[in-house]
Amino acid sequence: MWQAEVRVDLDAIRDNVARLRAGTSAEVMAVVKGDGYGHGMVPAARAALDAGADWLGVCTLDEALTLRRAGITAPVLAWLLDPGLALHEGVAAGVDLAAASLPQLDEMIEASRRADRPARLHLKIDTGLSRGGATVADWPALLAAAARAQADGLVEVVGVWSHFVYADSPGHPTTDRQLAIFHEGLAMVERAGLRPRYRHLANSAATLTRPDTHFDLVRPGIAVYGLSPIAGERFGLRPAMTARARVMLTKRVPAGTGVSYGHTYTTGDEANLAVVPLGYADGVPRHASNVGPVQLGGKRRTISGRVCMDQFVLDCGSDPVAAGDVATLFGSGADGEPTADDWADAVGTINYEIVTRFGGVRVPRVYDGELAP
Ligand SMILES: *Cc1c(COP(=O)(O)O)cnc(C)c1O
Repeated sequence: MWQAEVRVDLDAIRDNVARLRAGTSAEVMAVVKGDGYGHGMVPAARAALDAGADWLGVCTLDEALTLRRAGITAPVLAWLLDPGLALHEGVAAGVDLAAASLPQLDEMIEASRRADRPARLHLKIDTGLSRGGATVADWPALLAAAARAQADGLVEVVGVWSHFVYADSPGHPTTDRQLAIFHEGLAMVERAGLRPRYRHLANSAATLTRPDTHFDLVRPGIAVYGLSPIAGERFGLRPAMTARARVMLTKRVPAGTGVSYGHTYTTGDEANLAVVPLGYADGVPRHASNVGPVQLGGKRRTISGRVCMDQFVLDCGSDPVAAGDVATLFGSGADGEPTADDWADAVGTINYEIVTRFGGVRVPRVYDGELAP
């Protein structure tokens, strides 16, 4: 008998990937960083590959090596590589690496020597996000050095790529500006004598709304999990995650009873309180205090008072509630329950953060669907 659980519907992930694939002629890289946006990296990766994803995208070398240790042989790109990592392990495991600076390129050349095989590189240009990537000013030097290393048989430049600032606001002029800079960057790649097989730029939002940014490969993340990157649009995606718990304890209290730490909530009338065993240690944002929506007994309710580390309380008024009843924080919405979007709106964040928070280790993750482990 479960107390609290995060359910992940792997068939929803498969459907979403199939939908993304059908919408592009480019190859598809399913992004599974952040423990598969909280859904579990390896099961999410397997479901995505089963539905036809060609690539997997992760941030850290550790994530990439975890995929390889799980027996996944599909192409994997890792793009957040801090100095001093054992990059030769990635090269030996056939992990593609993102390079954005000369020092990074040097480390990858060294890793190639150690692994005795050429590192597969994706050179990243910063087209405006000002995060990863070489500036346009530094781009020619990076290209020249990469071309030399490739000519020496030390590395193989497989890809050239960048990342959007504003793709979640369709029509934003920054997206067009970034695309133009990317095209300029590609012309410089050509002039440097490099002919990488993969040019890639599109995240979920651009995959769904800007076919002119698809190039050879798209990198959807959030859409794989069935959530929309664009407020108010669903794109026919199916949310894969449900977070729910059984009511642990109920009690009847008089009107005017203060609830939870700081008594930030007081009952208006005599009330049935339900104590739900999920808290901020499990992923429930403390900012959901007095605003987080929860479905219990067929009704939408709002968290009463502060979210604690391990539990929160619902004022159910005069409705009958019993220990063991299921309180659903969010799910696909198919049964009237709140969605991760509702939670994001309630606490002032984005759906990405809501589901990723529930990747914690305390609440068991349970899988549904054909590929359930
Ligand atoms: C996270 C990430 C993605 C996926 O972004 P979504 O908005 O979730 O589709 C793509 N590319 C890079 C570089 C990322 O960091």
